[in-house]
Amino acid sequence: MLNIVLFGPPGAGKGTQSQKLIDKYHLVHLSTGDLLRSQIAEKTELGLKAQEYMNKGELVPDAVVIGMIADKIKSNSNAKGFIFDGFPRTVAQAAALDTMLKENGTAISGMVALEVDEEELTKRIILRGQTAVPPRPDDQDETLVRKRVSEYNTKTKPVADFYAGQGKFASIYGIGEIEEIFGQICNVVDKLPK
Ligand code: AMP
Repeated sequence: MLNIVLFGPPGAGKGTQSQKLIDKYHLVHLSTGDLLRSQIAEKTELGLKAQEYMNKGELVPDAVVIGMIADKIKSNSNAKGFIFDGFPRTVAQAAALDTMLKENGTAISGMVALEVDEEELTKRIILRGQTAVPPRPDDQDETLVRKRVSEYNTKTKPVADFYAGQGKFASIYGIGEIEEIFGQICNVVDKLPK
């Protein structure tokens, strides 16, 4: 299986590049942000609980997102591989993901990190907040956007070291033409163990 973690701060282009990777490699896309937003739209208990954190720009508790991903891995046992987008966001989530994949006889092939500086991120997210359908309230308030970037810096960045320690980390500069960045991601992905 080809299991990729697409990593980077909010606004780095993970969603856009994930879509292109899915089309090319036929992977199942697991975006915890998308899964949480659909739980919110359906007004489930999980969604309502998650919304309290998302409205503050904070991470949702590990147990909630780990449980959601565990269900998705189980229900897609025939997948050629997964692309994890916005997950894992803490070292505890990364460790749990390793365990879940091992139980399914597979492992993370590699992480690809998109590097984008903070000013560019803030600009991109505010723009997305003005254009996204359906609207994303967490993209429209600059204080909230900065809080999400700060959550990323303190809690999520260490996840890169987790994968670097396993020899599975690659980094790509995330500003430029979408196609050019995609080409660089593919160069990394094509060398990963399947
Ligand atoms: P995203 O769409 O990936 O930017 O996620 C939007 C929001 O959902 C984040 O700001 C978090 O509040 C929450 N979220 C998404 N994925 C995770 C995760 N893996 N762990 C904790 N919270 C998450």
